[in-house]
Amino acid sequence: MNMDLFSLTGKTAIVTGCNTGLGQAIALGLAKAGCNILGVNRSLPVETQQQVEAVGRKFVNVEADLTKTECIPHIIERAVSEFKHIDILVNNAGIIRREDAINFTEEDWDDVMNVNLKSVFFLSQAVAKQFIAQNSGGKIINIASMLSFQGGIRVPSYTASKSGVLGITRLLANEWAKYNINVNAIAPGYFATNNTAALRADEKRNQEIVDRIPAGRWGTSDDLAGPCVFLASEAANYIHGYTIAVDGGWLAR
Ligand code: NAD
Repeated sequence: MNMDLFSLTGKTAIVTGCNTGLGQAIALGLAKAGCNILGVNRSLPVETQQQVEAVGRKFVNVEADLTKTECIPHIIERAVSEFKHIDILVNNAGIIRREDAINFTEEDWDDVMNVNLKSVFFLSQAVAKQFIAQNSGGKIINIASMLSFQGGIRVPSYTASKSGVLGITRLLANEWAKYNINVNAIAPGYFATNNTAALRADEKRNQEIVDRIPAGRWGTSDDLAGPCVFLASEAANYIHGYTIAVDGGWLAR
């Protein structure tokens, strides 16, 4: 097989929320495949910057709060001024709020929807405009969830946002495939990160989850890097609008 199919040498990837967890592993995975990284974070992700630079790639951070869309033009301007072109966008930043639906507040609804869905859409739109201006095509990878497929419990805005991510992944693929823009998503199963710390701290819930995962373990951040590199690469040129579950078999049960 021609392994150059998976090479990202010289490409530029924007990765949102890459100071920790899945975003950090994704940024490092893309860097190892050859990408320079423009991180979008609320503060400088020192560790990620060191990791990316240690594999010989450039890392630039744009400080931005993705609860609001005002920061988006600056993200694009900075990426183009630093790297001249954008090739890949990974919409990874996301938050979760847990409360019974009967007591769920409007604030917990809006905060989650703004980061997990609204900013994902408008950042994708801005990056797609740049791809079209470059006449280069490009790759957009959204981070979805098991709750793009299932209902979940006590996380109403998270389920709404991640179900929405699956939907707009399809819609944007339909509209932008003609520009050689591939829009796809990855739905992680249960991964050991900050996002799931509360679940793992609950001994009973933790055991129930592990028992239901055919692979018999929580995912580690590194499990996500390969699928992300694949979707960002030429190997995925004819994949449009698909959400790949990386879940240790959770959805297969
Ligand atoms: P995490 O909490 O460790 O990381 C979330 C990232 O998003 C952090 O970098 C954080 O700083 C960033 N972020 C949050 N709000 C932001 C804002 N307003 N502006 C800019 N950045 C912001 O969680 P994680 O598990 O690494 O989650 C990464 C993505 O994966 C999220 O979209 C999450 O929903 C999704 N996901 C995680 C799991 C899991 O099991 N961990 C499962 C399914 C989906």
